[in-house]
Amino acid sequence: MTISWAETTRLAEQCAGGRCEYCRMHQALQGATFHVEHIRPRVDGGSDDLDNLAWACPGCNLKKSKRQTIVDADTGAPVPLFHPRLQNWSEHFSWNGYILIGLTPVGRSLIVAFDLNSERRQMIRRAEEKFGLFPPPDANDPRTSRGACPLVPVARIPACKPAFGRVAGPERARRKLGRYLRKRQARDNVRCALLAFLASSLGLLPLPER
Ligand SMILES: [Zn+2]
Repeated sequence: MTISWAETTRLAEQCAGGRCEYCRMHQALQGATFHVEHIRPRVDGGSDDLDNLAWACPGCNLKKSKRQTIVDADTGAPVPLFHPRLQNWSEHFSWNGYILIGLTPVGRSLIVAFDLNSERRQMIRRAEEKFGLFPPPDANDPRTSRGACPLVPVARIPACKPAFGRVAGPERARRKLGRYLRKRQARDNVRCALLAFLASSLGLLPLPER
């Protein structure tokens, strides 16, 4: 059965759990939806099938471009670019705090080529941590970090009740805000995350359960 490009895009996003499949950044706190990346470029014969598509943040999408090989950071030899559909992320990468570590030539070369430990990226990881989005829950789990689509669950912001901030303000207002955020979370994670951030800044979090 042929599916539309819009449906293909939706499935690619869902399979990736809303995370870039190269750097593992979540799109929930970013200003734009991520891109569908052709792992093997169409100009080189790559298809529009899901097994040739990856979900990529704008930075990785730009760095990837039409490349399928990159230079090994240590030896200078060409190595295959990490393939999210065929390779297991956790076999090539690992986290050391906010720093991404390359475990193999494939991992090390991608980190250098995509500049995956820049100051900006580390700042984003610190911000994601406040919303329970970092480290990626499946990053080091070989059962779920493998590229096969159905194995990667759809990522959700764990809750709109971050465990930080002080309790303050009228109880009724906090309950109302909690209900509103939970209702919004089901359909709009980005606004929910921003509202939760504002609420915590105003001292309205943690929110009550009901
Ligand atoms: Zn990325």
